[in-house]
Amino acid sequence: MNNHQSTHVAVIGGGYAGMAAAVSLTARDIPVTVFESAQQLGGRARGVLYNDTALDNGQHLLLGCYRETLRMIELVGGNIEQDFLRLPLQLDLHQQFSLRAPRLPAPLHLLIALFSAHGLTWGERIKAARFMLTLRAMNFRLHKDITVAELLVRYGQDNDLTLKLWEPLCIAALNTPILKASAQVLLNVLRDALNRTRADSDMLLPRIDFTALFPQRAASFVEQRGGKVHTSCGVEAIIPKDDGFKIITNPSAVRPEPVEGHSSVHVSTSSTRTENESGIYRFSHVICAASPVVAARLLQPIPALAETVALIDRLEHQPIYTLYLQYPAHVSLPHPMLGLHRSTSQWLFDKGQIAGQHGLLASVISAEGIHQELAQEELAHKVIAELREEFGITEQPHWFKVIAEKRATFCCSPNLKRPAQQTRLPRLLLAGDYTAGEYPATLEGAVMSGIKCASAILESL
Ligand SMILES: Cc1cc2nc3c(=O)[nH]c(=O)nc-3n(C[C@H](O)[C@H](O)[C@H](O)COP(=O)(O)OP(=O)(O)OC[C@H]3O[C@@H](n4cnc5c(N)ncnc54)[C@H](O)[C@@H]3O)c2cc1C
Repeated sequence: MNNHQSTHVAVIGGGYAGMAAAVSLTARDIPVTVFESAQQLGGRARGVLYNDTALDNGQHLLLGCYRETLRMIELVGGNIEQDFLRLPLQLDLHQQFSLRAPRLPAPLHLLIALFSAHGLTWGERIKAARFMLTLRAMNFRLHKDITVAELLVRYGQDNDLTLKLWEPLCIAALNTPILKASAQVLLNVLRDALNRTRADSDMLLPRIDFTALFPQRAASFVEQRGGKVHTSCGVEAIIPKDDGFKIITNPSAVRPEPVEGHSSVHVSTSSTRTENESGIYRFSHVICAASPVVAARLLQPIPALAETVALIDRLEHQPIYTLYLQYPAHVSLPHPMLGLHRSTSQWLFDKGQIAGQHGLLASVISAEGIHQELAQEELAHKVIAELREEFGITEQPHWFKVIAEKRATFCCSPNLKRPAQQTRLPRLLLAGDYTAGEYPATLEGAVMSGIKCASAILESL
């Protein structure tokens, strides 16, 4: 089987990786069927409707250097300037530290931002700027990967500088504490965000939910061109056959009714039942774009993939907690996004300024920490107290919602061996933020992996 006519690709998982793969193949006229076990697309970046309010499973942020993700969003009909609030690079730790990049070419914008940063001594500013210039001279490459904490010590970044600048940056980018985080992966992100064009370091905050932003549009793109997207249709088994693969889906899945008025419900127009009563399908190729735990479960019965499964099993995971608080509409923060120093909340987002959802604030707590030991009520009360102390918000929120993603990302440690997109079965590929790549677990890493799988299939035809 080596031509377009007999090629039909199953994509397992309708997150950003799976949908990027499906769109890339569809754009090249390769028939695709996406299977998504959840009611809606998006996976770890999905819209959530709560109390009639459109939320996400976690507040996400994109960088201007996420070129493939931004290109994909535009390819399926998005408009970056309308879909996002674009902010030039700025880091504000409330009343402690503030850095703003002027509209100048890179890397001048960063050097000026560092030299004019509030909350650092002159000595610290010089150390930070020298560090960036040294990294640039090294082309952001280390001979041997180490932890971010070791890198910072090696290049003389003292404690205050670390706490105010590098630690918040590292946790935001890698979702891994500096004592465990890979310095090389952080440098990959810094290289792409800070060293090319100024717009690469822009911060893009979505105005619409994450299912609507890409996966839902991607599904329409695929379906309008003859492909299929089945939601509420989990894959139970992948069985290699001589001429491809048999895919067994969950035949007991009941398709739920769409939730009225919410943009993030599934968009599938085809269902397992009507197309294939038995829930068994045949494909020439499979792209497994499910989360790592599920991918390991699906691949485990295939002896040739034992090494891949072992690599996935070795990955550790890190959580992200997002607490949404709906205050009266007049409540707002001084900036759309700002950090808190040595507090429970790491980053706060004002959804009123970002998306016109007035009074809605999001508090994000990334990576492991003592917050995981708190009951959700306790966590909310801590954050409410911080908002009162730091910003004088004396009102009580009408409601709050904690969304704890326990396995938000893989733990991005030094020298981590991640499974390749290509497996020992040439027509079975792996997509997902955890697969081999230069990026940490991010939307861009996920999208790039999906595109790589699609390219590998196209090249093989
Ligand atoms: C709270 C939170 C905040 C984050 N913040 C950011 C951020 O600010 N910036 C950033 O770039 N990244 C962020 N990330 C990371 C980003 O969301 C992920 O890297 C990305 O969404 C991963 O996409 P994926 O397609 O690889 O995997 P997933 O999104 O996990 O997609 C896998 C899909 O497979 C489906 N599936 C599972 N089992 C089956 C089955 N048996 N059959 C069919 N389908 C199945 C799942 O339902 C899911 O839809 C954040 C993640 C979280 C959780």
